[in-house]
Amino acid sequence: MAQIIVLANQKGGVGKTTTSINLGAALAQAGQRVLLVDIDAQGNATSGSGVDKSVLEQDSYDVIVEHTPLREVIVPTDNYDLVPATIQLSGAEIELAKQPQREYCLKKSLESVRDDYDFILIDNPPALGLMTVNAFTAADAVLIPVQTEFYALEGLGQLLNTIELVRQQFNPDLDVAGILLTMYDGRTNLAKQVAQEVRSYFDDKVYDTIIPRSVRLSEAPSYGQAIIDFDPRSIGAQMYNNLAQEVLKQYGK
Ligand code: ADP
Ligand code: MG
Repeated sequence: MAQIIVLANQKGGVGKTTTSINLGAALAQAGQRVLLVDIDAQGNATSGSGVDKSVLEQDSYDVIVEHTPLREVIVPTDNYDLVPATIQLSGAEIELAKQPQREYCLKKSLESVRDDYDFILIDNPPALGLMTVNAFTAADAVLIPVQTEFYALEGLGQLLNTIELVRQQFNPDLDVAGILLTMYDGRTNLAKQVAQEVRSYFDDKVYDTIIPRSVRLSEAPSYGQAIIDFDPRSIGAQMYNNLAQEVLKQYGK
């Protein structure tokens, strides 16, 4: 049965989507069956996986709000299966609010495919609304990318509160998979200090792997490729492979 991991941080631009795509691809190339579910109306994980959003007839909105069977919406990509997102999803918060058992919509649709995959990754939007509650209710664990910058820890309290709230009300088994330091610039003292601060606060919950700031990582999505295909020798590719190894070990796979 798949481990369901949601990439979440209500801050935008911390590396959720980049990590969804590249961890997903690295896990797949390590032999795992991976499904990536894009639930951000920006659809960056969708275009970054090489899928043209303009030709899609259905997306995760249909799955979550209209109860379209998830299998019908899956798009195969180079490395993993994808449930895409388009701008249609921007109306989902309001529509979700009207649903019976509105916190469980995503969980219910994922149950039908859970046995088909080893990992299901969910690329979460930068918000703590009902869509995020759906993702946290459906997931086994939350992987939190944190940008290695001055405001790194800001907002994490709120995120942890939301996780706690979902634990109490909808999903008692929800774990924090780990904190992932991203966009690390080893030339600056600030990055080193922030990394230390995050480690002293979260201790062994922080992944050993640190994702460096790398131009190649930011270029890959415009080619619709994961970094391990776009530039397999790059430091970004190595580090996402390392992260995949850590995650495999963590879940005994
Ligand atoms: P989020 O999904 O949290 O909003 P993204 O993964 O989309 O964040 O990253 C935000 C921007 O930063 C994107 O343009 C992305 O290409 C770029 N980016 C992400 N990770 C890195 C990195 N390690 N080095 C350089 N640029 C990065
Ligand atoms: Mg994103």
